[in-house]
Formats: sequence, structure tokens, C-alpha cells
Amino acid sequence: MDLDLDQDWLRGVRAALVGWYDESARALPWRRDRDPYRVLVSETMLVQTTVKAVVPYFERFVTRFPDFATLAAADLDEVVRAWEGLGYYRRARQLHAAAVRVVSEFGGRMPDDPTAIQALPGVGRYMAGAILSFAFDRAQPIVEANSERVLARLLAVRGDTRSGPIRERLWLAAERLVPQQEPGRFNQALIELGALVCAPRRPACLVCPLASLCQARRQGLEEAIPEARPRPAPLAVVEECAIVTQGSLVLVVQRGAGGLWERFWEFPTIHVEGADPGGRALGPDVDLARGVQLLTGVQARIGAPVKSIRYSVTKHRVALTARRGVAVSGALEPGPGLIDARWVEPRSLADLTMSSAGRRLAASCEWLE
Ligand code: SF4
Repeated sequence: MDLDLDQDWLRGVRAALVGWYDESARALPWRRDRDPYRVLVSETMLVQTTVKAVVPYFERFVTRFPDFATLAAADLDEVVRAWEGLGYYRRARQLHAAAVRVVSEFGGRMPDDPTAIQALPGVGRYMAGAILSFAFDRAQPIVEANSERVLARLLAVRGDTRSGPIRERLWLAAERLVPQQEPGRFNQALIELGALVCAPRRPACLVCPLASLCQARRQGLEEAIPEARPRPAPLAVVEECAIVTQGSLVLVVQRGAGGLWERFWEFPTIHVEGADPGGRALGPDVDLARGVQLLTGVQARIGAPVKSIRYSVTKHRVALTARRGVAVSGALEPGPGLIDARWVEPRSLADLTMSSAGRRLAASCEWLE
């Protein structure tokens, strides 16, 4: 695939973009230096997540785990706990695995070789380009949500940006645009323009440094590019959990490997209806009392619902109903899909990694005090 881009146009875009960035860039904590570790942590956190949400997590995370060696030596549960609330927990596990690999294979220093970087867990083409350009000033292209939109508009690329040929065209454009001089600053500027000016809806073309160079703007297509993608309807899910007590203690279980909630603690939960994003071991054919017994070994009397909450996870909309239960008998024995089942003091739930939904349930059951 070839892309015929005029040299003057390329120079014009680079100069205008970097000039604007120097005056307008936000002072984000991961831009204070070019430490590859901080680049990897910030870029991992920023996948599918806003800058505003990431900033406090990033500050806390790098204070607690300041480098590859500290992160690699940390217990995975502690790392996931530090990620709690940020969502997409697979990223935390992959980041930890990447740190272990950097320490064991590269002596704790991020390699500057594209192939070695892309072989790290969780690192794809974009992330490798970000690490190489931001941390090592290597002229590597990047295409993520913001820069993809800017590039598509600059070149007036019509069609679905997820399609292979169009994606490749945008990567090629990014490759041609990224300069040999300070490529990291240029790539940051491309992302920043997409975040602050060339917004998904109503791009601020009047104040855009690239307005005179933008083909979508020239053709009046800035609102039509990229093409809107129809959003699939969320998949409905129904789950039930039991908040079982024995004296002052409450019963919790820890999920095993694989699935969305790997290593998370929760109240024993069964899948009742619809899709099954949590990969529940027990499905609609088992009622909650039987589910608790199979999951924990504990027999419990299950009462009426005490709380219902709704939450979204990936493309699912989950309705979760909690019922109160009282243990009758049974020794603890973690069941299918679990690695632990315990009685804990309600106040120690704060020390366990739980989903936001689990936290909300625990907080709303004042009788758990
Ligand atoms: S002129 Fe408008 S559409 Fe073009 S890059 Fe700037 S903000 Fe985006």
C-alpha cells in the first residue's frame, strides 16, 4: 500500500502540531520524564479509560510500585488491589507479568528493541510505538483512538476505521508523519490534539492548528469522519449472590484463574439468566442455597432479597440480587472455579480485592457492621 503525501504538507503538519503542543499540552504526571516503566504503566492504564480517571491511580501506583523490580516482586493480589476501581483487570495482571519478564530477561531495564517490546504481555503495536517514541525517542508511529481520529480527518479517510485496509492506511500515514527529530513529542501532540481539539463530536476546527492542512475540514466532512459505529445493544445478565453470616463473620470466596474476575473476592454468586460475562461455574439449574453449598461447602438458609444493584461490565448489563443467608452447617471447601473460601470480619472486606459491585453491596448491608 502506498500513500502519496506531499513533503510540504508533512512538514507543515509536524511544525503546526508540535508548536501547538508546546503551548497547550496538559501537565500530566506521566509526561514529567521519559522513564519507560512510567510510560508502560500510564499507557496500560489509559487503554479504554479516560485521563481524568487514570491520573490518581497512576500517582498511587507508581508511588507504591516505583519500578519494574518492585512491581515484579509484588504479590499479584496486591497489584490487582491497587488497580481496583479502574476496571479491565486483565491489564493489571498483564502489567505485572510484563514486569516479571523485564526483570527476568532484561535485568529490570526495558529493552529498546521493537520485537522484544511487542513480545511483552499486554503490549501491542500501539503500546510498543508509544514506549519506543516517548521513552527512547525512536521514530515509531502510533495509532490509538485519538490519533486515529485526527489522522482519518486530516486525510479525509472515509469508511470504517476498524477495517483492515483503512487501519493500515492510517498506520502508514502515522509512519510517514512521525519525524526523526523528537518523535515522542510529535506523537504526544497527535494524541493531545485528538483529546483536546479534534474531539469525536464537534471538533473545534476554528482553533485547530491544522485547520488549513485538514482535508476533512476543507471538504466539510469533519463531523462525518470517522464514520459512526452502531453500538450493539448491551447483553442482559441476571445473577444472584448470598451474603451468608455465621455469628459476626461473613462468607466470601476468591475466584480462580481465568475470566473477568480472576483472583477477586466476592460473595458466593450464581448465574441465573442471559449471557455469562463472569464465567460462573454454576448456572440456572442450581438455586442459590445449593449454589452456596457447592461453591463453599457451607449449608445456609437463604432469605429474601436484601439489595439489588445494576452494573455494566464490558458489553454486559448485569442485574445482581443479593439475598441474606445464615449458615447452618458445613466445613469450608472452595468449589468449582474458586481458589479460596473464608469467613471474615466484615471490616476486613476493605483489605480484599473486590469488584465495584461487590464493594457497593458490602457497603449497603449495614447489618454487616
Ligand atoms: S481541522 Fe478540525 S477535523 Fe481537522 S484536525 Fe483540526 S479539529 Fe480535526
